[in-house]
Amino acid sequence: MKHVIIGAGAAGIRAAKTIKKIDAGAEVVVCGEEGFFPYSRYKLTDFFCDELTESEMFYAPADFFKDIDVNLRKGQFVKTINPREKTIKLFHNEVVPYDKLLIATGGTPRLGPVLRPYEKLIQRYYSLKDILLLKKKLPGISTCIVSGQGLSSLDLLCGLCRLGKQVTYIIKGERADWSLVDPNLYNDLLELMIEKNVEIITRDRITAIEKTGDRYRVSTLKQQQLTADIVFAWDNYMPNISIIKDTGIEKKLGILVNEQMETTVDDIYAAGDCVEIYHQGIRNYLINFGWPNALEQGEIAGKSMTGQKSTYKLHESLDFELMGKAIRARWWK
Ligand SMILES: Cc1cc2nc3c(=O)[nH]c(=O)nc-3n(C[C@H](O)[C@H](O)[C@H](O)COP(=O)(O)OP(=O)(O)OC[C@H]3O[C@@H](n4cnc5c(N)ncnc54)[C@H](O)[C@@H]3O)c2cc1C
Repeated sequence: MKHVIIGAGAAGIRAAKTIKKIDAGAEVVVCGEEGFFPYSRYKLTDFFCDELTESEMFYAPADFFKDIDVNLRKGQFVKTINPREKTIKLFHNEVVPYDKLLIATGGTPRLGPVLRPYEKLIQRYYSLKDILLLKKKLPGISTCIVSGQGLSSLDLLCGLCRLGKQVTYIIKGERADWSLVDPNLYNDLLELMIEKNVEIITRDRITAIEKTGDRYRVSTLKQQQLTADIVFAWDNYMPNISIIKDTGIEKKLGILVNEQMETTVDDIYAAGDCVEIYHQGIRNYLINFGWPNALEQGEIAGKSMTGQKSTYKLHESLDFELMGKAIRARWWK
């Protein structure tokens, strides 16, 4: 039996490990776009702040794959899936057959139509490659503009504060949407930001970015002109699901899966930040996200792919720690 996994993140690697644990003789191939061995994405801010070294970020080095006999193909972007022929096509047109396929491609921050023309002037904050590039620029950065919602914006703001940078945070509404369960925590975090001299601009948004020498000039809807050494911005996080085009796999924002992580197409499974799963309570699909969730879904997908029945139990919220504070957040949809 040949199991092919697209995406070498938390969900993909956990699925590979689960499959080999159940069926040591199975052939498992993991195709991951990134050129690195799998790393702890949720610890990127700790690495950014020099609280972890680069080598401490990698949780599955070369020996790990040798020991469990899994073929990790790094730097391999998968561009299409052909469910009729049961094959995938890699970026350089190599065709890889599968018996069972897992899509574990995660989600990434995206820019809407207003910010998209300025993409090259905006610093990404998502991958190890982004942080390695960012760390090189850090000595020349003292002022930063951040525009983005969700837990990841909170994570980035805290990181920049820890590094002693001067931050301007632009939010579209009256309050930032950090998806917190406890409303009181919002005020605590806001106070913490103010204590760290974060300038918060509400009810406004970036409309244009221009590079002037080494600095960036930002114009806003309310006609403010701001300057900074770096600009971080995104409009939302979206599942990476372009590869399911023309496959017949059903989707909303993410790939729709049942509690066994099966998609609507036979022998194709999906797990992690790229999926939407059915919630019995609200009778609708919703996106879960977060590291523990991706691990759990990866494990269930691995079991389902080997024929074992296991059911994903939806968690209502995500717990994590930020600047020493325990934080409980809702899912991002
Ligand atoms: C800065 C930051 C901080 C975070 N902090 C926390 C935290 O504190 N707590 C927490 O729980 N979560 C946190 N998260 C979220 C957490 O990291 C994710 O929820 C988790 O990594 C999702 O795992 P995944 O396997 O679904 O996707 P990912 O980890 O995103 O892995 C998907 C992989 O698939 C690859 N891929 C995509 N498309 C293709 C393709 N076509 N072909 C081949 N490969 C492809 C991607 O490059 C990526 O390597 C954070 C995320 C970020 C960016």
